Amino acid sequence: MKVSAISVDLDSLQHYCRIQGVPESVLDDRARSLVDAVAVPRYLELFDKAGVPATFFAIGAEAGPSLRRAREAGVEIASHSFAHDYAMSRWPADRIEQDLDAAHTAITEASGAPPVGFRAPGYTLSAALLRAVARKGYAYDSSAYPAAPYWAAKAGVMGALKVLGRPSRAILDSPRVLLAPIFPYRPALDQPYGKGDAPLKELPIAVAPVTRVPFIGTFVTMMPWPVVTMTYRAVSALPLLNFELHAVDVLDVSDGIPEELARQQRDLKVPATEKLSRLSKLFGWMKESSDCLTLRDAASRFDLN
Ligand SMILES: [Zn+2]
Repeated sequence: MKVSAISVDLDSLQHYCRIQGVPESVLDDRARSLVDAVAVPRYLELFDKAGVPATFFAIGAEAGPSLRRAREAGVEIASHSFAHDYAMSRWPADRIEQDLDAAHTAITEASGAPPVGFRAPGYTLSAALLRAVARKGYAYDSSAYPAAPYWAAKAGVMGALKVLGRPSRAILDSPRVLLAPIFPYRPALDQPYGKGDAPLKELPIAVAPVTRVPFIGTFVTMMPWPVVTMTYRAVSALPLLNFELHAVDVLDVSDGIPEELARQQRDLKVPATEKLSRLSKLFGWMKESSDCLTLRDAASRFDLN
């Protein structure tokens, strides 16, 4: 049976402001605490109803009390760095190591268990970053996102924001990521998007074979439903359907997301009830037609030696 996994990056709204070039002053206290107070409990309920396991990628600096509840409910808590700085892949090794150590400590304290997996901010790896993750003894990394339309769109949006005088803090990955395998592989430590003999495994985020259309949370919540079902059929042929979501995929403006941000990030305007109903349908399919696992368990399922 094929393997699938559901993971959620717990990025707070501050990070969306930074990507979109919207001032963080639009966020009040409620907006700042939405992920921990609203999104996480909403996801736990969704996973519980669907009977599926999942992985949260937590940001060390934002590790909140909901992480322990999540872990006690059976959710794996992995590391999404400490500062979630989009430039992390350009940092020198010692700065990367400090950040990873701080994330490890904060997440272990908040959740009650040490993380064994990592996802880079903005999905962008460098050799120094992958090496530092491997040095921590983690079992897997899940940052590779070999999606052609995503890369092209990000390049376009970043260019447009620059023209508008609202430079984005996002970092454009090397086009080499487009050649990365779309199935689990053992990466090379000096070339994270190529195969090699690193001690950890790389679990790429799901993209459709051939077209490399990204099958992620916003795709499932935003695209016409027949397109979602068709693309689901394509990605369910992958040995690992690594379905990636964000905390905001279960939030909307009525939860307190400011209009200024929702205008730039259109998925925030879709009602959360609609998004939840689509996700619960998808989780049902994944459970029925694959072994749905945490990423930690999925990593140990693939023998890549
Ligand atoms: Zn993130």
